[in-house]
Parts: sequence; structure tokens; C-alpha cells
Amino acid sequence: MSRGNKIYFLGIAMLLAVASIFGAAYFYYSKKPAAAKANSLDAVNISKSGDFQPLAVPPEAVQKGRAIALPILMYHHVGSLPAGADKIQADLTVRSVSFEAQAKWLKENGYQSVSLNDIYLASLGKFVLPKKPVVFTFDDGYEDVFQNAVPILKKYGFSGSFGIITKKPGTSAGLNFYAPWGDIAAAYMNGEEVVSHTQTHFDGSNPKYTAGYIYGELSGSMADIKNRLDITTNILIYPYGHYTPTYIVEAKKAGYVMGITVHEGDIVNLDDLMRIPRVRVHGAETLRRFEDVLLHRTESSTTTPAKLTRPR
Ligand SMILES: [Zn+2]
Repeated sequence: MSRGNKIYFLGIAMLLAVASIFGAAYFYYSKKPAAAKANSLDAVNISKSGDFQPLAVPPEAVQKGRAIALPILMYHHVGSLPAGADKIQADLTVRSVSFEAQAKWLKENGYQSVSLNDIYLASLGKFVLPKKPVVFTFDDGYEDVFQNAVPILKKYGFSGSFGIITKKPGTSAGLNFYAPWGDIAAAYMNGEEVVSHTQTHFDGSNPKYTAGYIYGELSGSMADIKNRLDITTNILIYPYGHYTPTYIVEAKKAGYVMGITVHEGDIVNLDDLMRIPRVRVHGAETLRRFEDVLLHRTESSTTTPAKLTRPR
């Protein structure tokens, strides 16, 4: 082979080598994002509304990668509506009789309550969720939920998760009475879960709060719960359901591994624990509507008047 031909063949060989590397890379990267996309919460939501199911969907049937059907119910007040309550307070207050009907229906339909921490452990492969899991969350730590909801949960073999605003216990504001630490500790000793709802219920999406302030509230709330109950919670319920990318960074820095929102939905993606959706239970909701939401017979969020969506 002449020197000219050698250079010619060497050139062709190098071109082929480069082309095959690019080809392999293209193949690899074109596959990879597609797989990741199928696991993202947005993709799940799109597909969920696309394959809208008129009847109950067994959790195993809607599993998409690490996304699972897991209604996390959101409550605020459970009990009678105080005189002078406005529309928002009315929407946030579920009567004890309604709450009991909901718990009874869940029990009769085979649901088993799990804690938010159980979901975290499941994400690590350290906990096996039951076939029909449900979470009862109670925001703000109002006295009425400890008085009225906890005994009903117990009666049906359930337990709940309570988001505590750690500077509020034992105080009151208007019609809101915050349970004292003694009641919260008693509930915790009795098997209820206590998680953080910050120290003061500040709105994390308001730009006036600096990253340092956010970190201080979130780590402070964790420290308050540690001091009062001797437990370390790494779960946060965002006040108003509001968060920003900075907020999530600070929450993670403070040690949180799970953030609970007010995004409406009952699909939990175990790979996206900082943006967990919930199912809001409205004050005047009938049992029929509650069933419809859990059985996907209605789009729960579309029936909520915009005026009443202000979360607490
Ligand atoms: Zn709240």
C-alpha cells in the first residue's frame, strides 16, 4: 500500500469510528430522556387525564414507573362550624358526622392509612405500601382535629398526619384555636404523625422572604418539634401550598426530604417527593362527592370555586 493510500484508509477508519461513537451516543440519549419523561409527575398527570377512568382504579393498575395512586386527604378543621364563620372557614371545616362517614366509607372500601414517612420509606424501598393506601393530613394543628378527628380515626383503625405551625400551639387567632403541645404530644404518643408546617405559616412564595429567612423558619420548626416531642421530622407541609425553587433548596438544606403541596391530585411520584399533591376535602362536601373524587368519577379540582381555593 502506498503512503497516500495508507493515509486514505486511516482517514476512512477514523471517520467510521467517530460516526459509530456519535451514533451510539445518539441512540443512548434519545432513549434516556423518554424513559425519564414517563416517570415525571407531569407526564403522569397528562396520561391520567387522558385515560380518565370512570370507576375505581386499583392502585397497581395506574402504577407508572415510580408513580402510585395514593390519595393524601387534606383537612383543616373537623367539628361544628363556629358562629360568624366566613365562607373560607366554612370550606375548611368538615363536620364530625361527615368526617366519620368518610372514614367509615374508606374502611369499608379497604383503604389502609399510612403516614407520610411511610411514603418516604417506600421511596427508599424500606416500606411496602398496602394495596389501597390513604393519608389523612391536617394542616395548622387546630384543637378541634385533636378533639374530634383523632377519636374517629382511632375508631376505624386509621391514623393521621398533623402539620404543626410550631410557634402557634396553645394560642388562638380569631376563630382558630391551636392545640397546645400537650394535646399534640398525646396524639403523637398514640400513634399520630407530627410534621412541620413552618414556625409562623409565612408564605414561601413571597419574594420578601430571603433564602436565609426561609432556612431559619424551616430548620427552626424542625428544632421546635425536636425540643417538644423529641422526634426529628423531615417532612414539611408548605403553608398555602406555596413554594419556589429557592424554597425547595432551603428545605432540603434544612434536612427535609418531602414537601406536601395543595396541587390537586392523587398520584404520588416516589421520585418527586418535594411536590406531593393532595386531595382537598371541602367543608360542605357530600359523601357522594367524596366517593366520586376518590373513585375518579369527577375531576375534583374543577368543582372548586376559585374564590374558595385560598388554602391555610
Ligand atoms: Zn396551613
